[in-house]
Amino acid sequence: TLRIGVLALQGDFEAHIRMLKGLGVDAKAVRLPEHLDEIDGIILPGGESTTIGKLMIVYGLHEILQKKIAAGVPVWGTCAGLILLARETDNALAGQPLLASMDIRVRRNAFGSQRESFETDLSVPALGEAPFHTFFIRGPLVEQAGPEVEVLATLDDGTIVAVREGTLLGTAFHPEVSGDTRFHQYFLRIVQSVKR
Ligand code: GLN
Repeated sequence: TLRIGVLALQGDFEAHIRMLKGLGVDAKAVRLPEHLDEIDGIILPGGESTTIGKLMIVYGLHEILQKKIAAGVPVWGTCAGLILLARETDNALAGQPLLASMDIRVRRNAFGSQRESFETDLSVPALGEAPFHTFFIRGPLVEQAGPEVEVLATLDDGTIVAVREGTLLGTAFHPEVSGDTRFHQYFLRIVQSVKR
């Protein structure tokens, strides 16, 4: 059984845990460094990235998460979690702690008031042919991606909204709030391939 830790400081962690349990995974809420012992993969949920980033420091999780990433433990950031994985954001001066592990620059709350939250059918070739229906909730966008970064999905206008860099995965939307489990299964395949 795979053991996945879901960072549970703030935000939408419960829906991730529920979806993972439905897939037969041993899913654990992570609030303290010791909760990361013997974890095969980590999900950073959506929420409020400045709050989550600051709490990570308070609870002693920032450094250990960076160490786990450096050791090759797969990590998937969704929405606020994607911001935390980024090397750079437009909000860096507001005291936003980042894990700075993916070679991407993100723009927070990027979709403007009218489209701050919307749902859409995304084409995600890595998940197969059927579109992935998903929800953007005041999500970020990826403004810049380095040469090692694979783009997994864009909106129709070319805006990058899902990326992979080795064992790191980032999505600007909330794949845990629909019934479609394919993105979670995709992450679990990455985790499984590292565990072998
Ligand atoms: N707007 C949030 C932020 O900037 C992200 C929104 C989300 O995770 N749904 O942190």
